[in-house]
Amino acid sequence: MPSSLRRTALALLCALAPALACGSADEVDEAEAAGRAPAPAAEDAADDYLAAEDEPAAEPSEPELPASQLPFTALATIAAADPARCSATLRDDGDGTILTLHTGDSLGDDARIEAIERGRIVIRRGDRLEALALPRAAVRLDDPLASWSEEPDADDPGVLVRGVQLGPGSHYAIKTPNHAWGERAVVQGIQRAITLYSRRARGGPKIHVGDLSLRGGGHFPPHLSHRSGRDVDVGYVLKGPQADDLRFRDADRNNLDVARTWALLESFIAAGPVRIIFVDYRIQRLLYDHAREAGVDEDRLAALLQYPRGEHFPGGVIRHFRGHRNHFHARYGPALAGASAAATPTPTPTPSATPPAGDDDDEG
Ligand SMILES: [Zn+2]
Repeated sequence: MPSSLRRTALALLCALAPALACGSADEVDEAEAAGRAPAPAAEDAADDYLAAEDEPAAEPSEPELPASQLPFTALATIAAADPARCSATLRDDGDGTILTLHTGDSLGDDARIEAIERGRIVIRRGDRLEALALPRAAVRLDDPLASWSEEPDADDPGVLVRGVQLGPGSHYAIKTPNHAWGERAVVQGIQRAITLYSRRARGGPKIHVGDLSLRGGGHFPPHLSHRSGRDVDVGYVLKGPQADDLRFRDADRNNLDVARTWALLESFIAAGPVRIIFVDYRIQRLLYDHAREAGVDEDRLAALLQYPRGEHFPGGVIRHFRGHRNHFHARYGPALAGASAAATPTPTPTPSATPPAGDDDDEG
């Protein structure tokens, strides 16, 4: 009787998401039928790691089936006599989405769930059956793929239908104008952000705007996203000899103008409609130290920055993603739930400027 396996599965369900309705009547029934109290909530799932334990994944009486090569990882199964009450929780390894599926559900073109058993999912592909078992190794659920990545969001159309081109401006330089097409609201948001920034942080180098999208959008190598005019790369504000170099340069504590960069990021968020901004975690640390020193309160820091809660923590408009040491990447779209406090403009004074009072209310 793989009770520890079942406990792991229940703890895993508790750890996943409120939407998975931990403690539902089904689950309690099942635990009571097994003569035990329901498993406690996620205590077993310490440190974001969930281990499938060293026990056979399936009852010994079940027939051996070839292991499925489909790109899914089984995370939990709930088996019941009635197939309608069975469910399986899987991670789509392609994009990190976590799904709860039932008997009969599709897993792609030629695959569907034939049955859900304790510890394994039986999949039918054409006329053959294969099995996806709970893995024995730990499954890391805080992988950035499970929350955000530089890949397009699920609601990204992949093309840019009525795009507009970001034109020249007095406070910024565009690296490649042919790569500077975006949705109108995005282009206007960028312009508002840089105008706001230039009023807050007078002086300093021009802002370096990198790629948005191609005219018409679509696949834009080497970017994973930047397909639909909702993404823009922007250089950090640097000091010293690299400050006016249009090429993106790695930033660190020696060359980053941290006060101006913080003002720039605050301006992008205040000008909206920014969904998320990717900034390397080490740079987040420099920004955090600066902002704290400048008197930004903890609630606002937590709304703006993922730091210091770990580079996989799913909070803060500004998040870590690899490849963002020499520029940040702003993705436009409706704000994330819980991030609204971040959009309240309470500009942090920069050493060289007295910020004007709320001046970002020109809707576009
Ligand atoms: Zn980018």
